[in-house]
This record gives sequence, structure tokens and C-alpha cells, in this order.
Amino acid sequence: MRVLILGAGFGGLELASSLDSALGGDVEVTLVDKADGFVFGFSKLDVMFGRATADHVRHRYSDLAPPGVRFVQTTVRSIDPVTRRVETDAGPLDGDVLVVALGADLHPEETPGLVEAGHEFYTNAGAFAARDVLDRFAGGDVIVAVTSTPFKCPPAPSETALLVHDHLAHRGLLDRSTVSLVMPLGAPIPPSPQASEALLSAFAERGIAWHPGTLVRELDPVAKVARTADGTELPFDLLLAVPVHRAPAVVVESGLTEDGWIPVDPLTLRTRFVDVYAVGDVTSVGTPKAGVFAEGQAAVVAAQLVARARGEADPTTYDGRGICYLEFGGGEVGKVDVTFLSGQAPTGDLEGPSVALAGHKETFGAERARRWFGRDWTPVGD
Ligand SMILES: Cc1cc2nc3c(=O)[nH]c(=O)nc-3n(C[C@H](O)[C@H](O)[C@H](O)COP(=O)(O)OP(=O)(O)OC[C@H]3O[C@@H](n4cnc5c(N)ncnc54)[C@H](O)[C@@H]3O)c2cc1C
Repeated sequence: MRVLILGAGFGGLELASSLDSALGGDVEVTLVDKADGFVFGFSKLDVMFGRATADHVRHRYSDLAPPGVRFVQTTVRSIDPVTRRVETDAGPLDGDVLVVALGADLHPEETPGLVEAGHEFYTNAGAFAARDVLDRFAGGDVIVAVTSTPFKCPPAPSETALLVHDHLAHRGLLDRSTVSLVMPLGAPIPPSPQASEALLSAFAERGIAWHPGTLVRELDPVAKVARTADGTELPFDLLLAVPVHRAPAVVVESGLTEDGWIPVDPLTLRTRFVDVYAVGDVTSVGTPKAGVFAEGQAAVVAAQLVARARGEADPTTYDGRGICYLEFGGGEVGKVDVTFLSGQAPTGDLEGPSVALAGHKETFGAERARRWFGRDWTPVGD
């Protein structure tokens, strides 16, 4: 069986590793990505807040651990889901099975004034540049703002507001600064009332202004105000933004999407095309756009393909479960164990926050760096 995986992010890396370790030479896995390396989402915050360098958090695809996986660094230009053939800058590629794991593209230019007057922190380049911006910041009104839905890692803006507050405290700038958080959600982590309550208390203790249920629609670079969807004007000296998310254009042009994202069977991750699966942020599967969910979906696709290769019955289906770690500031981390099941209200319990859980988060990153890249690595470092 030849499996062609588009995108070597959380989903693509987990799928390629699982297939290689279960089937070895009985499967031909080709993994395609335009980038030369992978960066965990949480590493963006580590670089931004000075806990790691950009070099330290990049995992090069030339170091991929699974021995049987062929990695092709190239850009996918078109996808034909009927023939499972793709055109790339390195020529055509095809597979008996095609898995689309191309994530979400980010578009700061779609929010008027953002490129001129604000800083997005969701791309690698944006987060790494924000580190210098924060280091140079002399104090003032800081806004952490979401500009559209859906967006990756719904807890990340809350974490960022708390870490900005730590940063300002550390630099002695709190007395001349404010921190505000603009979020489209009604609560910081809607499926976990416990986690939301803990975050809202943390905001209240620190005086972080919480603006729920709205988005920043535009920035006025001259007046230095952000306008929200409900018409409020918020003055800012530094605006850190979560930019507009869209499925990559090549995915939309392939005919795989409906309403912007790829619909899949929530239990099997199959698309409506034969032997074409999609996992992670590029789908509308119903879980949040986060690495842990992309990874869980990839594991389910891997189990199906392994069963098929071995002539066994189809295995278990996707359970919508993921564990998210939340930075609370002060070196403390919380852990939310959340489950999204089709047709049921999502639920999630909070453990912590505590310094001990910061260690669990480090282990989470270290285990994946070992599995995917064969590296001894810890998220924090130079
Ligand atoms: C600040 C921040 C913090 C986060 N923290 C967490 C966290 O703590 N826990 C968590 O679970 N998630 C977190 N996330 C979210 C997480 O990073 C993403 O949800 C996850 O990476 C999605 O996995 P994916 O495989 O769907 O897509 P991605 O990991 O985005 O991978 C998609 C890949 O496709 C490639 N690609 C795209 N288009 C093309 C093309 N045309 N040709 C070739 N290659 C292409 C890209 O280069 C990319 O490598 C965070 C995100 C951010 C921004």
C-alpha cells in the first residue's frame, strides 16, 4: 500500500510515524511539506516570552526518525481527490491512499490595519518577531485579540494575556501598562467551566480586562485604536493578534471543502472521496483546531490503514478526546482533559494549575520530539 500524506505537522508526523512503526516495509509512506522543519504550537509562546530560542524549537525534517518514511520538501500546487494525484514543485505524486493534513493558513492582511499597526503571533515568523517587540516595549496598553473564528488552540490567547502580564511585571512596567483580552468565545475554555473559572480568576487577580463574545475587526494605525465587532473602540500601544484562519487555497481549489473546511466522517476521518482522509486543522470535524486533536485523528487513520494492510476488521473509531496544557503564568500550568463527541455537549476537567504540571507539559513535547525526530529535547532551552 502506498500512502501519500500532505502536510508534516502534528497530524502528518503522527500518521507517518504510526504507519512506519506498525507496518515497516509493508507500507510505502511519502510525507510532503513545503517547510524544512516543524515547530510545536506551544513553542511559539516559549520563543515569544524568552524561554527558548527560535533555533532550539525547530525540528528539521532531515532528522525524521521513522526509517521507512520518504520526506519530500516541496509545495503542493494542486490536489485531485478522485485520482489521489497531486502536483507539486517537485513533480507529480500519487498514492493508493491520500491523507490531507495541510493545517490552516493564516491571513493577517485580511484584518484592516493589522499588518501596519499590530503583530500577529500565530505564525513562526510572527511569534519569533514578537519576542523583540515585547523586549523593546516600554509599557502602555496591550491588547491580545482574536480577529476571526475558527482559530487554533482556543486557550492560546488567554495564555498569552497571562504571559504578557508576567513579562510586564518582570520588566517593571506594570504600573504604566494595562492588558486586555478580546475573545469571540463567551468563556475562555467553553467545554470546561472549571478551567474557564480558573482563568477568569487569574485575569481578575491581575487586572486583565476580559472582553468576551467579540472580535477585533480593524485597527486604526493613526489613532491607535482597535475596533471590535460590537463597535467598541479600544486604545492600544501594542496589539498582539490571532489572525484570520483559512484552509490552504490548494485545498479549497481541490473541491474537498464545504464552507471553507474539509468535512469528514467524525468517527473515521474519511472524506467523501474514496481512500481520501483528512485530519487536523484543515477539517471541520467538530473538535477545536489543536495539535492533540490532529494527533488523535491521525492515530485513528493509522489504525484503519494498519488493519487494512493486515486484512483485519476495522478498529476503534475517533473518540474526540484531547489533553491541553494551559500556561497560567508564574511557571504554573493547568491540564484540561476534554472530550468532543458528535451530538453531545463537550466536557472537560481541570487539573492544577501547578509547577508540577509544567513538567508534564515538557514531557509531552519531549516524547513527541523523540518519536518523530529521534531527539532528546526539552521545550525550554537555548
Ligand atoms: C501560539 C499557539 C500555541 C499552540 N499551543 C498548542 C498546544 O499547547 N497544544 C496543542 O495541541 N495545540 C496547540 N496549538 C495548535 C497546533 O499548533 C495546531 O492545531 C496543530 O499544529 C495542527 O496540526 P495539523 O497537522 O492539522 O496542521 P499543522 O501542524 O499546521 O501542519 C500543516 C503542515 O502543512 C504544511 N503545508 C501547508 N500548505 C502546504 C502546501 N501547499 N504544500 C506543502 N506543505 C504545506 C505546513 O507547512 C505545515 O507543516 C497552538 C497553536 C499556536 C499558534
